[in-house]
Amino acid sequence: MNIEDFGKNLIFLPDATKGAVKFLTTDQLRSTGTQGVVVNTLHLLINLGVEKMEKLGGIKSIMNWEGYVLSDSGGFQVYSLIHSEKWKGGIDENGVTFISPKDGLKHTLTPESAIDIQLAIDSDVLVCLDDCRFSEVSRKEAEISVERTLRWAQRCKKHFEKKILKSKKLLSCVVQGAGYLDLREMCAKELSKMNFDGYNFGGYVVNSEGNLVTDEMEKVIENIPKEKFKYVMGVGKPNDIIKCAEIGYTVFDTVLVTRNARHGSLYSFDEGKETDYLLRIGNSQYAKDEKPIDSTCDCETCKNYSRAYINYLLKIKEPTGYTLATIHNLRFYQRLINSLQ
Ligand SMILES: [Zn+2]
Repeated sequence: MNIEDFGKNLIFLPDATKGAVKFLTTDQLRSTGTQGVVVNTLHLLINLGVEKMEKLGGIKSIMNWEGYVLSDSGGFQVYSLIHSEKWKGGIDENGVTFISPKDGLKHTLTPESAIDIQLAIDSDVLVCLDDCRFSEVSRKEAEISVERTLRWAQRCKKHFEKKILKSKKLLSCVVQGAGYLDLREMCAKELSKMNFDGYNFGGYVVNSEGNLVTDEMEKVIENIPKEKFKYVMGVGKPNDIIKCAEIGYTVFDTVLVTRNARHGSLYSFDEGKETDYLLRIGNSQYAKDEKPIDSTCDCETCKNYSRAYINYLLKIKEPTGYTLATIHNLRFYQRLINSLQ
């Protein structure tokens, strides 16, 4: 792993939300060819805590993982939890304050503390705290979100530069602006002046009809530096990754790939692009199918087991079935990404 190369080639990062890819050991994760993972700052903060993370030497040491780790800022999750009134809290110019349901303690996520927590996680790629809103926002609200995102990006960068002396880490920012193309452009241009290592497409990646917001994505790409990595957060389904790679994005992540595996939505090149490579292993037609999930796949699951076996294991909710399905789906995504390089 060379941090300077992050995002130069296409890379897909599965989610290791709380410090593990569900149902996989780190060795099994390596076997899929995965080069990096995304961890969730908020979950690590409230479950593991800063003190413990620092004592144990950070998430890479804890996971025994030598690949890339990208941490999000925690902002997106905490905003959604507050907006949906699942958590108590509030947002103002200083940051986000919330009560953790774990211990009842009050936490404040500011641009500076979001960086500090990510440094305790010891991730390689950090993300600035941004002001994220729901997809359908008024122009006024989108303007406020962009302006605050810019001020917070500046504060994050200043704090990051003060803290980072020797060890090389990357700091990325988030481009907001919702569906307003001129705001997307302005946000991208202003952030470019601040010279980040990477630029992330923020906000919602699909519209209310479930289609990718390609106009917004293109507008952002046109207005950020060519040589920096470009991360489209939360994308996505195989065909969406193909489309975003065509637009110019290089870094992808989604919780779908592992969650779908556990729910029996597997991916197979035998299925083809028209159906987004989806193979629903729970369907009765696979109950006696002796073929592997994907005839072209070289993963542990496809080399050793049949569709019938995976169909059976998932039906009885056997954890080994979740493991084998996850290994296959992660390998599929790596092969998909390799085919697009
Ligand atoms: Zn496979």
